[in-house]
Amino acid sequence: MKTGLAHLYIPGPTNVPEVVRRAMNVPMQDHRASDFDQLTGSIFEDLKAVYGTTKGRVALFPGSGTGCWEAAITNTLNPGDKVLMARHGHFSHLWVEMAKKLDLDVQVVDVAWGAGVPVNEFARILGADRHGDIKAVFVTHNETATGVTSDVAAVRAVLDGALHDALLFVDGVSSIGSIPFRMDDWGVDLAVTGSQKGLMSPAGMGMLAISEKALRAAQTSKMRRAFFDLADMLKQHDLGSFPYTPPVPLLHGLKAALNRMMDEGLPNIHARHKRLANGVRRAVAAWGLDLCAEHPTLYSDTVTAIRTPEGVDARDVIRIAYDRYNCSLGSGLGPLSGKAFRIGHLGDLNEGMCLTAIALAEMALVEAGARIKLGSGVAAAQEAYVMRPAEAKLRL
Ligand code: PLP
Repeated sequence: MKTGLAHLYIPGPTNVPEVVRRAMNVPMQDHRASDFDQLTGSIFEDLKAVYGTTKGRVALFPGSGTGCWEAAITNTLNPGDKVLMARHGHFSHLWVEMAKKLDLDVQVVDVAWGAGVPVNEFARILGADRHGDIKAVFVTHNETATGVTSDVAAVRAVLDGALHDALLFVDGVSSIGSIPFRMDDWGVDLAVTGSQKGLMSPAGMGMLAISEKALRAAQTSKMRRAFFDLADMLKQHDLGSFPYTPPVPLLHGLKAALNRMMDEGLPNIHARHKRLANGVRRAVAAWGLDLCAEHPTLYSDTVTAIRTPEGVDARDVIRIAYDRYNCSLGSGLGPLSGKAFRIGHLGDLNEGMCLTAIALAEMALVEAGARIKLGSGVAAAQEAYVMRPAEAKLRL
């Protein structure tokens, strides 16, 4: 029997704060009532702030990030359209597979799992696309499988440099709300996220932000869509409502989560994620283990994917952590199965929670056969987190 707290360190769903859980305990209400916009109005406004857009719109679809991948494609592209995508982890791989299923003509650039979006190769391909055959470029901002954050602004610069008109699609499922995302500044046309990661809510809703340019593309898009029709959704959103029954308790939770985010302040949230991630990475370095991310410029501040040493099966580490210590770590996905495990450090999290993750992962690693010194990772993270007296006084 498992006792005490369940420690959740998968990179989503993340821990849902008490205030959000309580906010969801509401009687059911009439989503067609004239005052329903009192619930939804601030959600749309706050989400725009989280996305870094004043010009774009945000649509909320019951579903998840995957649903919004589909909504982004089916609302703006046409069957047979050529699109450019990189594959460098499980989620970018799944988005490629979806694009193929939806009859897009996908040009895939395969790079190592651990690399970022291949900006130079994208520059070469887009530069050579003289007739503008490529209609969209897809970027997975934060590849959750490998703990790699890619440079969306650099892809925008490449598009601009090539005078290329393709739409820029971004998967921000494990980045938006946790690390900086600047939809307008980066010229992102479609940005996808979900309720269960940085937004600290249960799974069940996907968010899609749409630029003015993408809205224009939506007017001529001929792909088949029904449930995910953006025009229907935005028409109802204008009235503060939905074209079908929305998950009302989830909306209450999301509203509370966004209130909390606005209270903390987005720059503070981003700084907190950076600080916490840095401690986790210091722990991994102290263990002498490698990250999946190939280079420090790619390190994700929301999830760290850690390669287990030769002879240590990452599945054992995850199983031991769960069975013995009631601690959920993220698994190695696809080709990383057995070779890596992940620590999610996004959402409602603090230093103590990260130290717990490190301590329990450390014990699970040792029990799975890794030759690391108990306490080494914890001590390294403490060094990263602790404030020296002079600094602490300054902050008081
Ligand atoms: N994209 C990324 C980067 C993800 O991490 C995930 C889920 O973990 C998804 C897409 C799929 O999102 P969902 O599970 O909300 O459908």
